[in-house]
Amino acid sequence: MTWQKIQQENFRSWQHLADFLELTPDQQKQILKNPRFPLNLPRRLASKIEKGRLDDPLLLQFLALEKETEKKTGFVQDPVSDQSFQKSPRLLHKYPHRALLLCTSSCAMHCRFCFRKNYPYEKKIADFTPELEMLRNDPSIYEVILSGGDPLSLSDERLQLLIRELELIPHIKLLRFHTRFPTGIPERINRTFLAMIEKTRLQVVFVLHINHPLELDVDVAKALKSVQKIGASVLSQTVLLKGVNDSLPIMKDLMLKLVEAGVTPYYLHQLDRVLGTHHFETTIAEGHALIAQLRKTLPGYAVPTYVQEIPHEKSKTALHPAHRLETQDTQSLCHHAGCEFA
Ligand code: SF4
Repeated sequence: MTWQKIQQENFRSWQHLADFLELTPDQQKQILKNPRFPLNLPRRLASKIEKGRLDDPLLLQFLALEKETEKKTGFVQDPVSDQSFQKSPRLLHKYPHRALLLCTSSCAMHCRFCFRKNYPYEKKIADFTPELEMLRNDPSIYEVILSGGDPLSLSDERLQLLIRELELIPHIKLLRFHTRFPTGIPERINRTFLAMIEKTRLQVVFVLHINHPLELDVDVAKALKSVQKIGASVLSQTVLLKGVNDSLPIMKDLMLKLVEAGVTPYYLHQLDRVLGTHHFETTIAEGHALIAQLRKTLPGYAVPTYVQEIPHEKSKTALHPAHRLETQDTQSLCHHAGCEFA
């Protein structure tokens, strides 16, 4: 079966998913029935969710709960100020030397904590002519990040056209994919995709978004290995999520499984404070404690850098414990009830 056909089988109705997971009427009452960012969950992930359990760490990531409607101070539509970095509706230029192309609004799955879930994506299917023109005219940019949405939602044909255009820009050297696709539909890493990545003159960096060890099974690992075999670097990024992965056994298991699959853990993100995601937030102190514990039990290369995106900083901000002391004044602006800096 093609990956597109597999994707068509995704759960998109909360009732179908609730029936599949045998959720009780009381549990079903807690489900937010018609969220603006709708349910979209691949069968592969749904089949790993424990039946009858509303707090399953995979389910929590994808099923909207009534909690999302609670208003919390500090949680906003666009916490990372994406829109202030727009050079065009599809091109963001946040950091020096790299630009991010929002190639699609589609994803293999919809994550409740997504920091772009409210992003006003350009819906028209169009080519990337203005964005490519901007990239051509800025020789300081040597890396293009394909993001979205999920860039692997594009067909192989559209992806190939885009890569060809980028290859023609001499100052572009690196091509980065930010994707979560392989954890839901590893079949997306098909021969055509691998062939185009192998052939390109651009060095490909493949960054997988993954939050829980259950997401990484044999087929997913096989897909990641095939990307490594053709010479791409494969890294991971994880969001620290309360109730999902904020414990040492889970995070340690995830990082070890990634390393075993040849993936280098890259970032552990502090949650971006998007409207309706407050129930996923841990404190920065909890994040520090987790990283400190990981350091005691894993090799250094298996411990990701704990970071936070602070709008208008020139890169992601590494949350070293020392950073706490340096930034206590600015953090004291934080009014979140559970926050150590409140
Ligand atoms: S896959 Fe990525 S872009 Fe898509 S909803 Fe999840 S976090 Fe957002």
